[in-house]
Amino acid sequence: MKREVLQPMYFEEFTCIGAACEDTCCAGWKVAVDKKSFHKYRKVTSGVLAQTLQTNITRERVDPSDETYAKIKLDEKGNCAFLNENKLCNIYIELGESYLCHTCTTYPRQVRRVDNRIEKSLAPSCPEAARLLLLNPEGIDFTLCEEEVDETFVEYIEMSTLFEEIRMFAIQILQSRHTSIEHRIVVLGMFLEKMHMTSQQEWEKKIPLYTKIYTRILQDAERRNLFKELPDTVGMIEIAYALIQNQESVSVRFRECLMELQEGLQLLNEEEVEHSIYLYESIQQEYYVPFFEQHSYILENYLVNCVFKDAVTSNFYFEYQAMRIRFLYMKVILMGMASYHQTLSKEMVIKLIQATSKTFETNQAYRDGLKEILKEY
Ligand code: SF4
Repeated sequence: MKREVLQPMYFEEFTCIGAACEDTCCAGWKVAVDKKSFHKYRKVTSGVLAQTLQTNITRERVDPSDETYAKIKLDEKGNCAFLNENKLCNIYIELGESYLCHTCTTYPRQVRRVDNRIEKSLAPSCPEAARLLLLNPEGIDFTLCEEEVDETFVEYIEMSTLFEEIRMFAIQILQSRHTSIEHRIVVLGMFLEKMHMTSQQEWEKKIPLYTKIYTRILQDAERRNLFKELPDTVGMIEIAYALIQNQESVSVRFRECLMELQEGLQLLNEEEVEHSIYLYESIQQEYYVPFFEQHSYILENYLVNCVFKDAVTSNFYFEYQAMRIRFLYMKVILMGMASYHQTLSKEMVIKLIQATSKTFETNQAYRDGLKEILKEY
């Protein structure tokens, strides 16, 4: 069926880099297999992969759907059973592309139908996708076209057409480069909270009013010093402690970043925080501020991508809060990484954003925990 398709300009440029990938998607994640592919694999009874296919792909018993009908077992290192020593996929090599399941064919592309329109984006948990979507200094732009779309497994989301105005204004706030990225995040939060508190019946009347008010607040953000609404240095050190203490189910690369955070800010115990506070502040001045004076577009692109792909839900204010918390996590970790390496580079920022996305993006336990915490405020 032909539909209108909205997608960021970067979308069409993506190509998987295969064996050259530094954090292949075939490592550290459970791979869901759709029903059609599962039955196709069961019919492979000869050839080098027959035995591995029978033993390493098992039915999903927890809440299965046609899309998550079965799963691929991971080996002791947490890698997909079909990933060979050259980091290439044996299913692809032995049986061809048509044998890849839906997950492996589409990742890191995300395709959804929002009302009657298809929306496409890339997940920054893929390193190559992260480079593509984050490293454009001009910012993320979108394009609208019409095309034939296979809608099997395409998630459908019903949204008020007015929500589109809210999301476009949210992106406009994030791309307002006359003020710092921290100010933009705070003003965005104020606007989204206001919309969250306003009943949908009133949106039509209130959206023009609120977009006017928050445009004015954004222009004034620096003078009002709204940045102060984000945690101070001590608050950031507390976040750092919480991250270091809770390292279960994080990706290998995220764990490397946490190790650099711990060493870089010398976070040894909670009783001796003075030195960490001193280091945090000096690293902020020496590396963080100068680097992001030149490269704040990387953080901006990350946030714009999050709003575009995640905020399409009636719970958009929760998605904003989750994004803001990830931003704070990344800020404190970057400070530790910069101290550890005595520099800050684009590669370090990309690695952290990619690893953070891989750790938190599809982690339902983390999202449920966050919802519980946020309910208390
Ligand atoms: S993470 Fe991305 S670049 Fe790496 S193997 Fe997967 S799709 Fe390819």
